[in-house]
Amino acid sequence: MSRKVDLHTHSTYSDGTLEPEDLIQNAQKQKITHLALSDHDSTGGLAAARNRAKEFDITIIPAVEINTRDNETSAAVHILGYFLEETDINFQKVLTQHREIRAQRAQMIIARLHTMGIKLYLSDFDNGKNEGAVGRPHIADKLKEMGVVFSRQEAFDKYLSQGRPAFVAYENGPTPKDAIDAILSAKGIPVIAHPGYYVSKETILSLAEMGLQGVEVYYPSHSKDLVKTLLGFTAEHKLLATGGSDYHGPGSGHERLGEIAVPEETIDLLLERKYAIHNVN
Ligand code: AMP
Ligand code: ZN
Ligand code: FE
Ligand code: FE
Repeated sequence: MSRKVDLHTHSTYSDGTLEPEDLIQNAQKQKITHLALSDHDSTGGLAAARNRAKEFDITIIPAVEINTRDNETSAAVHILGYFLEETDINFQKVLTQHREIRAQRAQMIIARLHTMGIKLYLSDFDNGKNEGAVGRPHIADKLKEMGVVFSRQEAFDKYLSQGRPAFVAYENGPTPKDAIDAILSAKGIPVIAHPGYYVSKETILSLAEMGLQGVEVYYPSHSKDLVKTLLGFTAEHKLLATGGSDYHGPGSGHERLGEIAVPEETIDLLLERKYAIHNVN
């Protein structure tokens, strides 16, 4: 039976708009058979996702996305981790720290909005699941709910994007190396997310020296030319080529579940790589 793969999705355990169960329901509609739930700094949605996936013929790949900041270039770099052991206690401690840093940054964004007369509170963002993994999309949604803006996009354009008045950089967050180390220590495979947004080949190669194993090649905003270039690059440097939709659910602006073609053998290659570097089976 042929497989349909999506290796990048988010739920309400981070900044997605759908509960894991509803995400799985939509994946089923799109005939996806292998789905990575890659919430920002949280693996909390995996249990619910697996539970619903049992009803269908869907395999859940345990994953995470860690937003980092490169100290040298100040660039935002997102690192995905696949097939990790989410019960690893030290790994969970690291994710908890990341969520605390996120909450502190959200508090700083909120303070800036207050000075503009827009009053919201950190407690507004506790949905009982995200455990402090508050991102700008949450704040954008709240601004929409308050009638300050009409969409997530408008909130980013007016307030939250770099250069806008409520922008706060992810200053004290992890570096790319921190994220790679954390994922490797949980026996996962670190992969750089959507390099088309920000990253040079030099950056990717320096991350490969730290243990990065792959590049997210297939991605909604990547042009055909970029995909071709990245495929050549990954082959040359023995990096894996992965891909996904970065689906965040309805109303998020990232809504292309099922539209990104990822070769089905990517799953096998990721697992092979896991066994090779972590000596497990
Ligand atoms: P944060 O992790 O808080 O820095 O927020 C980054 C997340 O915001 C990304 O993973 C995207 O999901 C989302 N995002 C970034 N820029 C935009 C935008 N212009 N419109 C909607 N969502 C965005
Ligand atoms: Zn996100
Ligand atoms: Fe990302
Ligand atoms: Fe993402």
